Amino acid sequence: MTKTTTASVKITPMMQQYLEIKARHQDAILFYRLGDFYEMFFDDAVTASKVLGITLTSRNSKDDENRVPLCGIPYHAVSSYLAKMIKAGFKVAICEQVEDPKEAKGVVQREVVRVVTPGLVTDEQLLDDKDNRYLAAICQKGKEWGLSLLDLSTGEFLVSQREDLPALLDELGRLSPSEILLPEESGEDSPLANELLAYLPHSCLTRRPTAGFYPETARQRLLEHFRVVNLAGFGCEEMKAGVAAAGGLLLYLQETQKATLDHIERLIPIEFDHVLLMDESSRRNLELTQTITGGTREGSLLDTLDLCQTPMGARLLKKNLLFPLREVEAIRQRLDTVEQLYLAPRLREELRELLAKVYDLERLNGRVVLGTANGRDLTALKCSLAQLPELKEKLAAANGLLASLSAHLDELSELRTLLEAGIREDAPVTLREGNLIKPGYNAELDELVSLLRDGKALILGLEARERARTGINNLKVGYNKIFGYYIEISRGQLAHVPDDFIRKQTLVNAERFITQELKEFEEKVTGAQDKRLELEYRLFSAIRATVAEASSRILHTAGWLAKIDFFCCLAEVAQRYRYTKPVITDGESIIITEGRHPVIERALPPGRFVPNDIHLDQESEEVLIITGPNMAGKSTVLRQTALITLMAQMGGFVPAAAAEIGVVDRIFTRVGASDNLRRGQSTFMVEMNETANILNNATDRSLVILDEIGRGTSTFDGLSIAWAVAEDLVNKNGRGVKTIFATHYHELTELAATNTRVKNYNIAVREWNDTIIFLHKLLPGGTNRSYGIQVAALAGVPAKVVARAKELLHNIEQGEFNRQGEPRIATSPRKKKPQPGQLSLFSTEESKAIRRLREINPDSLSPREALDLLYELKRLNDVE
Ligand code: ADP
Ligand code: MG
Repeated sequence: MTKTTTASVKITPMMQQYLEIKARHQDAILFYRLGDFYEMFFDDAVTASKVLGITLTSRNSKDDENRVPLCGIPYHAVSSYLAKMIKAGFKVAICEQVEDPKEAKGVVQREVVRVVTPGLVTDEQLLDDKDNRYLAAICQKGKEWGLSLLDLSTGEFLVSQREDLPALLDELGRLSPSEILLPEESGEDSPLANELLAYLPHSCLTRRPTAGFYPETARQRLLEHFRVVNLAGFGCEEMKAGVAAAGGLLLYLQETQKATLDHIERLIPIEFDHVLLMDESSRRNLELTQTITGGTREGSLLDTLDLCQTPMGARLLKKNLLFPLREVEAIRQRLDTVEQLYLAPRLREELRELLAKVYDLERLNGRVVLGTANGRDLTALKCSLAQLPELKEKLAAANGLLASLSAHLDELSELRTLLEAGIREDAPVTLREGNLIKPGYNAELDELVSLLRDGKALILGLEARERARTGINNLKVGYNKIFGYYIEISRGQLAHVPDDFIRKQTLVNAERFITQELKEFEEKVTGAQDKRLELEYRLFSAIRATVAEASSRILHTAGWLAKIDFFCCLAEVAQRYRYTKPVITDGESIIITEGRHPVIERALPPGRFVPNDIHLDQESEEVLIITGPNMAGKSTVLRQTALITLMAQMGGFVPAAAAEIGVVDRIFTRVGASDNLRRGQSTFMVEMNETANILNNATDRSLVILDEIGRGTSTFDGLSIAWAVAEDLVNKNGRGVKTIFATHYHELTELAATNTRVKNYNIAVREWNDTIIFLHKLLPGGTNRSYGIQVAALAGVPAKVVARAKELLHNIEQGEFNRQGEPRIATSPRKKKPQPGQLSLFSTEESKAIRRLREINPDSLSPREALDLLYELKRLNDVE
């Protein structure tokens, strides 16, 4: 990119103004309003023209050395261009003309009215309704790390703090913010910045003056914003670091949004102690909100469960899925509500139909408060509010928990009345072109509208009267843009023109006149159009302001609607997919009968998924070692156990015939051989990091899922590590940790022999002819077969290679481990020891004769029979 300097450019007053404004927004692309366009100059223009795919021109002539690169976009299309810039990772400062150009003396006054950054988006075009868009701030005070998150579009404002930075970053990861603010001192290469980039490579880091994060001023700023004397009411008076982060974040908002921020009305501490914890890699491995491979929502658990009708409900579902509960009572209460709706399909259907007509109340409210809501937004708000009375009535009629939900629903009826009376159904998105306000709402407006509409009739009346008075039959009233209204009299009739006609214009065959009456009419009509537009805008703004005052009630109602939608969704899912209500206990067992994987089962034809039982406890079934060939279904059964536990703790029904879930505090999953190139670490390193995390943090109430660990290194290393990890887990704190361990190291099944809390399972496979069939059924006992070569054949490896592999397998000795897990190779020389069963599939041809031979007891044979047998054997051998 060619750097364009501004030093030598001859500076016009407008350019002077531009440069001053730009100097205050160095890190943003400045959209500078000029009439009907937003213009960009200099480097901004060069960048924007590339990103937006628009033509770069210049202000001066082409050969001028001082030419200023320039590009522009029409103001009415700003949203889509803005969206492009933000998606490309830029910040945009929007600079408007803040006085009427007609009244301006010299250069029109301009001001930046809004800075849009990836974390500060409220435009519909940029928001995904099923997702929150968070702006985060993070800073350190003493030993503590403070974190704050805000969704500007809904007003949700969260705060938390922790000593443990990785744990904090994990929580941050759950909410995946689009932009993160951090104090300037955390420069380009600071450890914090690097950590953040490693965890959240796609979010934009914004460095802010350190002073914004001073705890005292930050706290003061929050007190002023919330108009409170302390933060105790929000439960975060003690969170010094968290408050510093929240205050730093608020300052950024105040500087970038020239609007009230009244919809941000509470600071909510994130309470990690009450939720089921999961680290970032576990969430990823379980594909809760996106798939591992494609990173898409489609194919995730969230996608499968989301039958919500409103965006608020969908966002709540996602949040609850990422933060399941840990307290038995709270979980049971959710489950009971879901059950009530599950058992009342009619009611549920009615509620869901009503909810379907509710728009995104939280975001509509956000736009109302920020002053960007248009006519269509208010109409959407009105339609949403219109559903409330019936929703409330339906809920109230149900009993129990649902009835108590209805008590919280504020119907906001006076707002609805106001919107119904004031806003036209077909109100456009623009605010300056009229058609916003309904007839009958305001008398002055009605008069202006009728004046405009009746103008034609008035003219005709005036024309008729003047004809009668003057006796000129072809007198006519006309209008043109330059001269306005006039009375035209043909040349032949000029003699009859009365004295009060004032001459205006002379044509070849006619003269045009004006009268006092016509002049007054003209003033009224032309004024009326301007007045009407102005008045409509004022009335609209007043209605919007009234709605904004109810912000907190709207948000409250939106919150309850989200809950109702969430519960209806879980009940609907339960019915559609045949889930059952789990029993939640304080105990330590997880007992799942005929459990299914919620996502994989949906991808298969109905009834094709093979359900499996899982029993985990802390006595005899604490560590389950699951063996079985590739593709048997090991990973599936592991994950479904974690998912069922998680879904139950979220308060949802589960894909199983029955389930008893002793609440767990954390779920850890470690999935082998998945690349984590993002962090630039080797696969094995990542695998061991994650394993270390599990061993260091798992408690006796945790659930651990280990899928083929030790795969990333040599066989003996891997086996030794896997063995040691399993041993550690089974003995942890004397109680051990509930663990399911899928492995291809058959040797691990030996652990069960010495440890009563370890049990072996395998996933059944049936041999059939020369191939194998996957039964996907989990059975007790280990297996020592891996069928690797059969799977290779099934996968299409050429027959020649498969045959050679069989041959090689023959020659390789196996089972070099003793019961203690020590390799025997070091002490004993390799001996050829046949592995029973491993090769059976491939030796069927030659074994027919041999099998026959085995059946024979030579002592019971007569000489004659022996001779017959000899022939038979010979024949068998020849046939083969
Ligand atoms: P493994 O981890 O043993 O290699 P996976 O769990 O990845 O096997 O399963 C491989 C495939 O087998 C899955 O993608 C799925 O299509 C199918 N599968 C697994 N478990 C079942 C099951 N219980 N019922 C039906 N199909 C299953
Ligand atoms: Mg697997």
